[in-house]
Amino acid sequence: MTFDTQHVRAVIERAKSEERTMLTPDEALAVANAYQIPVPAQQIANSAEEAASIVESRERPQVFKVISNDIVHKTDAGAVVTGVVGADAARDAYDGVVSNAKSSNPDASIEGVLVQEQAEAGLEVIVGGTTDPVFGKLVAFGLGGIMVEVLQDVTFRLAPATTEDAREMLDEISGSEMLDGVRGMPAVDRGGIARLTASVSQLIADVPQISEIDLNPVIATADGVCAVDVRILLDFEEPVQRPRPSQEEILAAMSRIMRPSAVAVIGASAEEGKIGNSVMKNLIDGGYQGHLYPVHPRAEEILGKKCYASVLDIPTEVDIAIFCIPARFVASVIAECGEKNIAGAILIPSGFAEIGEHELQNEVVEAARKHNVRLMGPNIYGFYYTHHDLCATFCTPYTERGPVALSSQSGGVGMAIIGFSRSAKMGVSAIVGLGNKADIDEDDLLTFFEEDPNTQVVAMHVEDLKDGRAFAEVASRVSKKKPVVVLKAGRTQQGARAASSHTGALAGNDRVYDAVLRQSGVIRVHSLNDMLEYARGLAVLPDPKGENVLILTGAGGSGVLLSDACVDHGLKLMGMPEDLDAAFREFIPPFGAAGNPVDITGGEPPSTYSATIDLALHDERIHALILGYWHTIITPPMVFAELLADAVERAREEGIDKPVACSLVGDVEVEEACEFLNDHQVLAYPYTAEKPVAVLGAKYQWSHQARMLDSPIG
Ligand code: ADP
Ligand code: MG
Repeated sequence: MTFDTQHVRAVIERAKSEERTMLTPDEALAVANAYQIPVPAQQIANSAEEAASIVESRERPQVFKVISNDIVHKTDAGAVVTGVVGADAARDAYDGVVSNAKSSNPDASIEGVLVQEQAEAGLEVIVGGTTDPVFGKLVAFGLGGIMVEVLQDVTFRLAPATTEDAREMLDEISGSEMLDGVRGMPAVDRGGIARLTASVSQLIADVPQISEIDLNPVIATADGVCAVDVRILLDFEEPVQRPRPSQEEILAAMSRIMRPSAVAVIGASAEEGKIGNSVMKNLIDGGYQGHLYPVHPRAEEILGKKCYASVLDIPTEVDIAIFCIPARFVASVIAECGEKNIAGAILIPSGFAEIGEHELQNEVVEAARKHNVRLMGPNIYGFYYTHHDLCATFCTPYTERGPVALSSQSGGVGMAIIGFSRSAKMGVSAIVGLGNKADIDEDDLLTFFEEDPNTQVVAMHVEDLKDGRAFAEVASRVSKKKPVVVLKAGRTQQGARAASSHTGALAGNDRVYDAVLRQSGVIRVHSLNDMLEYARGLAVLPDPKGENVLILTGAGGSGVLLSDACVDHGLKLMGMPEDLDAAFREFIPPFGAAGNPVDITGGEPPSTYSATIDLALHDERIHALILGYWHTIITPPMVFAELLADAVERAREEGIDKPVACSLVGDVEVEEACEFLNDHQVLAYPYTAEKPVAVLGAKYQWSHQARMLDSPIG
């Protein structure tokens, strides 16, 4: 589609010269026309007589609307009348809407009455564009009309969006079925809505001065779409551009930071209890093999390492400097780090933006930019990179190597990550504190983890994204190669933004994060435990080779809970082929149930478990296995755990490696059984039917969006 952007720019320039931030109905019409947005014929009347003569010249019924910048919701003010036919009705409608508008807001300045052709009855949807402080230009689609705020059924995309993206948006809303016609209504023109949505997204992306567009409603019928209420708001303030290094620059700096050959500790200390002491000890106890240089103005030696008065005195190259000095001294040392060509400053100290000291933080950021030093933090516990034996932190050392990289914005969550990892024996590649994110943020980390051969899964705790667009761009790329799990905290605080359009108001909540994260292929979780369990589980589970999930259980109750969880997490329970059904029946008592779930019943000995598990592992039509074990005396938890671990191991030796997730319910012995299974790389969870299914669901979600499996579920 070709659009007349020049014409829109001219319209906007005129509004700017008249110091207006809202377009008139005529201007909005011109903009709509330039972007091929279908609108009804319209004319402005300044008197009842004028209105009457317009209506007389028209064949179809007309809609009357008061034009006023001071009235946002015209219906609420009684300032819309539909179905106006004939001169008398026109005069009445004119006087009616004007007097209603005046009584609803006596100070409102009224610029006339819009006489608009009435659209055919249809389904009212909303299409809009808005400017989000985190994600920039967004396009929205949802069920619309005057109920839009109540329904809140809307979804977003980064603008510009393609017509294909827009088609997906139509499927994303809860009321999507409404588009296909319900209760005798015909299906609406999905293609027309998608094209219109793509046009709006292009418009708001092409013309940044447009801050908000509201087409509410767009009336959609079987034959087309018509935007009957067009509201366009402007903002002429220049957006602040956030400096962003290139991918190569990020990679070069991040590689030196995460895998340094030499580390300086600024403010290293021999004194027990000081941060500069803990950091030194953790680096040494963590087994760091590179050069380690304590920096201290007077000390000769700290923990057996020769001390330097300044980084400039250090004889070799240095890759990172870990800061353990008070906030007010940081900026001046950054300059020295720059002179020394140090790639990254790890800023442990607090006392910056988090307590309102924005200026102090800005000073540090400016020094870092000027001297080309990347900053991690401030206000962090530091970071770990296990494959380089690096514990650059004042917390406890953690050295269990593995494929999971984690980051957190808060220190407490960082501690939880370490505690969980230790307790669940989760091997990690990196744990990174991002704190105030004065510079390095999630997109820098993702850029590094994308290329890091030691990282297979990334999990991030995020409170706010500094640059949602940059994140979305990098996450979209990385999530095709490695699963990216995000815990977005602060979901409930977002609704406070006062907005002057429907789209703006709807965008002021968590839905934008939700939509953009989904669009970026990110697996979003809503609890800290989910983040940690998904991270661990995604790394353990092999990729499924197809959609067929089988539940095998020793208790009907477990089967029901597991089936429900499968529905919740979009997993497809395999329909049982007759021969497979018969094969299972061979092993289970006559009162047991084959089908899916396969219920082997409670009183069965270990041999029944072994036989059915073997069968499930070896049948190629089954792509993933969920086991629901319930504690019995005849097959106690540890016996089950051992036979299962054995079965999985034998299968793996034969080259069969399908996802297996287990729920173990019973007395406390199931905890030990789960630990045993997890030690044998079989995912198992005590006292829950939901967790194993949720983790398997996440694995499927990733496999779909990374296009390893074709059809997305649901
Ligand atoms: P507001 O959103 O300020 O209340 P609208 O212009 O959206 O005012 O009109 C309110 C409602 O009136 C719409 O949701 C729609 O149902 C109906 N309406 C408005 N204009 C038309 C039109 N041209 N054709 C058909 N229905 C219309
Ligand atoms: Mg409206």
